[in-house]
Amino acid sequence: MFKDELEVLQSQGLYRVLRCLDGGQGPRIRIGGREVISLASNDYLGLASHPALKRAAIEATERYGTGSGASRLLSGSQPLHHALEDDLARFLGCEGALVFNSGHGANSGTLAALCGRGDLIISDALNHASIVDGCRLSKADKRVYKHCDMNELEDILKVSNKYRRRWIVTDGVFSMDGDVAPLPEIVGLAERYGAALYLDEAHATGVLGPQGRGSAAHFRLAERVTLRMGTLGKALGSFGAFVAGDREIIDVLINRARPFIYSTSLPPSVLAASRAAVALMHTAEGESLRKRLQGNVEILGARLNESGFYSGDGTTPILPVILGSVERTAAVAEALFEEGVFAPAIRPPTVPEGSARIRLSVMATHSEADLSRVNRLLDTLLPSIEGAV
Ligand SMILES: *Cc1c(COP(=O)(O)O)cnc(C)c1O
Repeated sequence: MFKDELEVLQSQGLYRVLRCLDGGQGPRIRIGGREVISLASNDYLGLASHPALKRAAIEATERYGTGSGASRLLSGSQPLHHALEDDLARFLGCEGALVFNSGHGANSGTLAALCGRGDLIISDALNHASIVDGCRLSKADKRVYKHCDMNELEDILKVSNKYRRRWIVTDGVFSMDGDVAPLPEIVGLAERYGAALYLDEAHATGVLGPQGRGSAAHFRLAERVTLRMGTLGKALGSFGAFVAGDREIIDVLINRARPFIYSTSLPPSVLAASRAAVALMHTAEGESLRKRLQGNVEILGARLNESGFYSGDGTTPILPVILGSVERTAAVAEALFEEGVFAPAIRPPTVPEGSARIRLSVMATHSEADLSRVNRLLDTLLPSIEGAV
C-alpha cells in the first residue's frame, strides 16, 4: 500500500532504519558484533547505567510492582509520583511540577492545554518537533520567528497586543544545533510586552546551571520564566518529563492536558530512578560528572572549531558537524562507523533542507583516549570534504 512512498524516501536518501544494539547504552556500545564509540546518546552524564538509579528502580519494583495500571486521574497516583513532583518543584524553585510520560507528551499536551482561541504562540523556528506538534494541536494563532532572531520576535510582539495571552516558546538548548537561547533578551522582551514564556529544558536539565537546574538557572532567570519543561530521559538517565511552574498552571494541566489525562502513568521503577537522579544532582558526584562532561565537550569542541565545521561555543554537549547534503552526511557517518565511531546522520525533516549534519553528543563517561581517537578521525575525514556549509 505504501511501497511507492517508501521508495521515494529511499531514492532521496531519507529512508530511516532502526539499528539494534547488542547491549545497553553507554559511551561505548556493541553493534553488529563490534564495540564502537557512541556519540549518539543524550545520556550526557551516563546516569542511565548508574548504580544508584538501577538500585532505586529495582527497589521500587519490589515494593510497588511493575506497572501503574492506569491514568492517575482514574486509578490514583503512586506515592512516588507525588514524591518526584515535590523533588522537582524544590529542585527548580517552583510552586509545583507535573510529571508527563514523555517530553513529547509534555510539550504537545501543555501547549494545547494552555494556549487556545484568542491566544498567540510565538515560536523559534528551530524548536523541537514536539513543540511544533503542540502548536498544531493548539487552537491558538501561531507565529514563527527566525532562529534566535530577537528583532523579529520583538516585531511580532509589537503588533500582537490584541491577543488575550501571548506565549513565547523556546528551547533552552536547541536539540540539533546545541546552541543556547538568548534568554536574557527573551525574558526582557516577554516582560516588556507582557507575554508569558514557556521554556523547554530537555537538553539543559542536568547539564547547565548550578546543580544542573537548566538554562534559566544558568542565566539566573529561573523565577522570571513562566513555565519550564524538562525531560527525565536525557541527562537524568531515566524516562519521562515534567512541567514546572505556578500551582495554578499545574492545576490547569491536570485538568486539560490530554497526554496526562488519557495515558497510563509512569511506572514505579521509572519514578524512583528519576528521584535518584534528581538527588544526585545535589551531590559532589553530580558536580564532578558535570565537570567531566564540560571537559569532554571542550576536548571535542575545540578541535571541531579549528576544523571550521562547527560554529558553536562549546557550552553544551551537542556538537553538530553541518555538512549540507544528505549524501555527504551519510557518507561521513558511514566512514566514521567503519572506523568504530557511531554518530548519527541527521537529515531533513529533523533539520532544515540543506543542513544535514552529523550530531555528536558527548558524555561525561567518554574516556579521553576515545575522544582523542574521534578527533584524529575527524581530522582525516573532514578536510577531504569540499564545500561544506
Ligand atoms: C527530546 C526532546 C523532547 C522530547 O522528550 P522525550 O522525553 O524524548 O519525548 C522535547 N524537547 C526537546 C528539545 C527534546 O530534545
